[in-house]
Amino acid sequence: MDDLASVLAGARRAVFFGGAGVSTESGIPDFRSAGGLYTTAHDLPYPAEYMLSHECFEAEPQLFMDFYRQYLVHPDARPNRAHRALAAMEGQGRLEAVITQNIDGLHQDAGSARVIELHGSVHRNHCMGCGRHYGLDVIMRDAGITVCHACGQMIRPDVVLYGETLDRVVIDDALAAIQAADVLIVGGTSLNVYPAAGMIRFFRGTHLVLINLETTPYDSDADLVIHERIGEALGEALGVE
Ligand SMILES: [Zn+2]
Repeated sequence: MDDLASVLAGARRAVFFGGAGVSTESGIPDFRSAGGLYTTAHDLPYPAEYMLSHECFEAEPQLFMDFYRQYLVHPDARPNRAHRALAAMEGQGRLEAVITQNIDGLHQDAGSARVIELHGSVHRNHCMGCGRHYGLDVIMRDAGITVCHACGQMIRPDVVLYGETLDRVVIDDALAAIQAADVLIVGGTSLNVYPAAGMIRFFRGTHLVLINLETTPYDSDADLVIHERIGEALGEALGVE
C-alpha cells in the first residue's frame, strides 16, 4: 500500500481505467461475474445477453426497455470510496481522466469532471426521430417504450448494446488520454472485456498499476499489482474515506 501511495503521489497526469468492479461496491451488480445478472435474473424470457442486444432492442423494444429499467438502471446507487478518491485526485491536479466501462454516472456524481464513458450513460437518452436529448427521469416515468413529446418517435438510451460498435470519437479520446498518461491505474476489471485489454497497450508512461480482486492475464505486465477491493486500495492510498 505504501507503494501505491507513493506512485499516486508522484503522478502528474494519471489516467484511471475502470470496469464493473468499481461500481459493485455501490451495489450495482457486475453483469458478467458470478453473482451478476447472468446468475440472478432467472425470470427472463431470453438469455440476458440477448436482452441487452441491438437485436432485442429492434425486435422487441418494449421488452428491452422494461428489462433495461429493471436491471441496468440503478437510480439509488451512490458513489463509493473509489469514486471519491479519484475525484479528489483529479481535484489535486494529478489525474487527467477517468475512462470507464460503466454506464451509471457515479464518477460524475462524486465530482469527477473528465469522464470518458466507453459504453455510454443511462443519464443520456435521445429521440430516434428528431435527436432531442432527454434525461433519465423521462425514461423512468414510463413502462415499455418512451416517446418523444416533440415528434412522437421512440427515445433510446445512449448506451452501447451488444451488437453495436463503440463510438470512435470516444475511443480516440480514451486512447489519447492513455498515451499522454504518466501513470495508468486499471481497476475493477479482469481485462477480458473488449476493448479494455487492447487499450492499455497504448500506455507509454512510467507506472502501470492493476487493482483487481482476482488475478488478471496482465498482472505480469504491471509495475504494481494489488489484489484488493478498489475502493479500499484507492481510499487508503489517497487518504480518502
Ligand atoms: Zn423527437
